[in-house]
Amino acid sequence: MRRLILAAILSVLALPAAAERIVGCRADHGPVIAAAWREAEARVDAAIRFLNANPDHPHVREWFGTTPAPAIRGVLKISLYRLQHGRRPEVECLSEKACVGGFFATARFQPERIGLCPRFFGPEGQVDRRFGILLHEVTHLAAGTQDRAYGPRASRELARRNPSAAATNADNFEYFVELLPDAAAPPPATSKQPR
Ligand SMILES: [Zn+2]
Repeated sequence: MRRLILAAILSVLALPAAAERIVGCRADHGPVIAAAWREAEARVDAAIRFLNANPDHPHVREWFGTTPAPAIRGVLKISLYRLQHGRRPEVECLSEKACVGGFFATARFQPERIGLCPRFFGPEGQVDRRFGILLHEVTHLAAGTQDRAYGPRASRELARRNPSAAATNADNFEYFVELLPDAAAPPPATSKQPR
């Protein structure tokens, strides 16, 4: 009986994993997408810790202007929830034709699905990384962010000009997390003893 109950509990716990669906993608894209989800989750977690420790850090002000830290943290936390295994939205790989305009990805609400453009799988630079693109789309779905400004320059400018708009702009969250200063990185495994 006990074993049966345990089996029943395990099967329920196993359910969310099956909910994570990938549609229309090449077989070799699967691991790339999975790695990007994991990295997004870890980086947003690090960004929340950074924000908690340094609510008025110049990096926070660079991307969100005078927005109070709790408003920024709210979007990051609700997005982190949806970046976790079993809670991630469905992903579909789109054709080049569906991505005219140079998009990396799209977000759709009904049914909830993130579309990945061929460019998503291309070489990565300092920004618009795969994990950052997933985060961008998840902030739309989870927190209702907008696309008021695209790209680092316009997003920085938005933070200066209109902080509350920056705090609801998907790219500001993407760049805040992608360009998080090294200070937020976990401490290195080997630490030097002071002499
Ligand atoms: Zn967007």
